[in-house]
Parts: sequence; structure tokens; C-alpha cells
Amino acid sequence: MSEAKFSTKSIWAGERDSLAFGATQVPVVHSVSFGYDDMDEWYEVAIGNKPGHIYGRNTNPTVQAFEEKIRILEGAEAATSFSTGMAAISNTLGTLLFPGDRIVSIKDTYGGTNKIFTEFLPKQQVDVVLCDTGDHEAIEQEIERGCKVLYLESPTNPTVKITDIKRMAKAGKAAGAIVVVDNTFATPVNQNPLELGADLVIHSATKFLGGHADALGGSVCGSKELVEAIYHYREINGATLDPMAAYLLLRGMKTLKLRIDQQNKNAQEIAEFLQGIELVDDVFYPGLESHPNHDIAKEQMKGFGGMLSFSVKGGVETVRQLLPKLQYANRAANLGSVETVVGPSRTTSHVECTPEERAAMGIPEGLIRYSAGIEDIDDLRKDLEQAFKALPADLLIKN
Ligand SMILES: *Cc1c(COP(=O)(O)O)cnc(C)c1O
Repeated sequence: MSEAKFSTKSIWAGERDSLAFGATQVPVVHSVSFGYDDMDEWYEVAIGNKPGHIYGRNTNPTVQAFEEKIRILEGAEAATSFSTGMAAISNTLGTLLFPGDRIVSIKDTYGGTNKIFTEFLPKQQVDVVLCDTGDHEAIEQEIERGCKVLYLESPTNPTVKITDIKRMAKAGKAAGAIVVVDNTFATPVNQNPLELGADLVIHSATKFLGGHADALGGSVCGSKELVEAIYHYREINGATLDPMAAYLLLRGMKTLKLRIDQQNKNAQEIAEFLQGIELVDDVFYPGLESHPNHDIAKEQMKGFGGMLSFSVKGGVETVRQLLPKLQYANRAANLGSVETVVGPSRTTSHVECTPEERAAMGIPEGLIRYSAGIEDIDDLRKDLEQAFKALPADLLIKN
């Protein structure tokens, strides 16, 4: 399997051991426990000497197939799964960090992750240092001052800032840190953090991996040693992926390459189109030459992803009037789905933050996050065009 190309792997990888009765598709095994007539066999499985399943909070055949597929797609030694992306993040940090430890990260992480850094970790006497995203010198200086975990996300949510993963991972490793990268926005189609030097790769599988906005899940991939420790934390603390969700995620992942290729193309075209719209102030997309770290993105990514954001003149009022006029977009908090999804950052990724906190992160109140779907690009472009045209002429005068 390791020699096959990505789209072949995303279809075939990880499923064989979970098939039963000659089924060609992974069954959804809705069984809380797994029974044994042979007490010795039960014991061998329970202590991990023999493959098999004991209890659903620990392992399950459907969930295992999901873990195997993401493991192979990320080229990792091991993988484990979680009920949500946030569970993947909190369980990973819970496994790695103890009172007195120091974690270095960036200011632009996902809103929930940022809350872990600002609200929960400090209560556990973990020293959290958040650097300006993209300020590589500042991150390196903080790493050198001591760093148990270096936590990165690239591209970021929602202003798609880029961090040089290879350079930061090198600095992190030199300081003895465990380097963690949230790869949700890029997906393994566009970026492989392990190849760039990271130790652990996290996904909110809820987003692009599943791709249909119908299942929550998360994953962590990396070395056997680290992943086993994180798995142990999860099996005891209980944020287990449900078998039905695992099935939906597996099914979605079979078309990952097709979807991401189309979303990369659509996002690039929409970003370029928005640059020509008068009411648009700024367009943020790593595939644009105007992006401050376009060169780093080009170096470390195979595609620039399906996520972009843009700010509009007239701020919140323009957002309020523009978004309801779109015909082919869900106005919702998710992203990475087959349908286009739009939303103001102040009600989606960073709803947990105050306006001041958002301003400090460089997120204007009139910022719109745009998750490109796989629709025909002509329809998406026309849809935006008609929505901008239908705005009242005096919108900017009144505001
Ligand atoms: C959505 C998201 C998460 C959290 O995932 P959930 O599945 O919603 O818990 C983490 N990181 C990024 C970058 C995300 O977009």
C-alpha cells in the first residue's frame, strides 16, 4: 500500500482487517463489547498480545479502519481517533503537558484551541507563550527559552496565515520539544507535516476528511510511542469516536483527493475574483502572490487549500446584507464540506473571543470566511457577483 498513489490509498487503505462476511465495505460495528469463549484468548487480547477488541471505549473495528486510513494517508507509524477535533487537541495536550511545562504556539490557532491556551492550561500551571503568527524569529527565540511542546497550525483559521513548518520543527527539535501541527485546513492531500519534521499531526476529521458535514471526529498521527500514550489518555478519559461517525468519515475519505483538488481550484479562482471587487478590502489566500508568506506556502504545500477569507468595506452591515443573498452557500459554522460554506469569523471560528481579542488577532469584524465547495466554479463566481450587485447603493454612505 505504501507504494500506491494518494487517491488509490485513500480508497483502499486501512480497511481489510475490519471487513467481515466477505463485505466489500467496512461494516458499522455497533457493539459495546466483544465476547470470548476462550478465557486465555480473552486475556491475551486484553493485555495486547493478540489483535482483537474488548470494549468500545478502547477500540472498535469500524473506528480502527478509520485510524488505519488516516495513518497511511499521513505516512505515520501510528494513529488514534477521537470524538471531535477538539478532543484530539485537548487529549494530546493533556498527555504531553504537566504543571511547570512550557508550550510555545501562535496567536492565530483555531478559536477552541486558543481557549485551551488562554483559559484552561494556565489553570494547570502550564506556561503558555503565544507568538505573532508568521514571526519566525520570535517563535525561535521563545523555543530557545524552553519548550516542552511546540504547537503549530498552518494555514490558520480564518486569515490563512502560513508558518514555515520545516524551519519551526527544526528549531523545536533542537530544543527537545515535541512538535505538534494541526493539519485540518491543508489535509494530507496538500501538506504532510510529518515529512516537514513534525512529531504529531492533528485533524478535525469533521472538516475536509469527512467532507460532508455529517459526522464529528478527530485524529492524531505520529510515532508509535507518542500515539500510544495519547491513545491511553483517550481510552481512560473517554472521548472515543463513535462507529457510525467513523463509517461516515471513512466513506468521505474515499473521495478526499477528488474533493480537495476541486476545492483548491475553486478557492484560488474565488480569491482572484474577489480581488477585483470594489467592496472587498482584503483577500486572504495562500495561493495569491499578495499573501505575505506565499513563497513558504508554495514550498511546503502541494495545493493551497479550500479555505480563504476576505474583509468587506462597511464591516458588519455589509456582511449582514451580503451573505443572505448567496444562493449556493450555507451560512454556517462548519467548513471543508462539499458545499460552499460562508460565515463571519465573529460568529464562527472566533465566537468565543471578545471583539478586542479578535482585533488583537488581526480579525476585522467585517471578515468573511469562505470554505469553497466542489460546485462548478462558474456558478460560485456568478453567485458572488449577483450578491455584490444586489447590495443597496447607499450601503457605504449610511455606514
Ligand atoms: C474545527 C477545527 C477544530 C476543532 O474540530 P471539532 O471537530 O469541531 O472539534 C480544530 N482545528 C481546526 C483548524 C478546525 O478548523
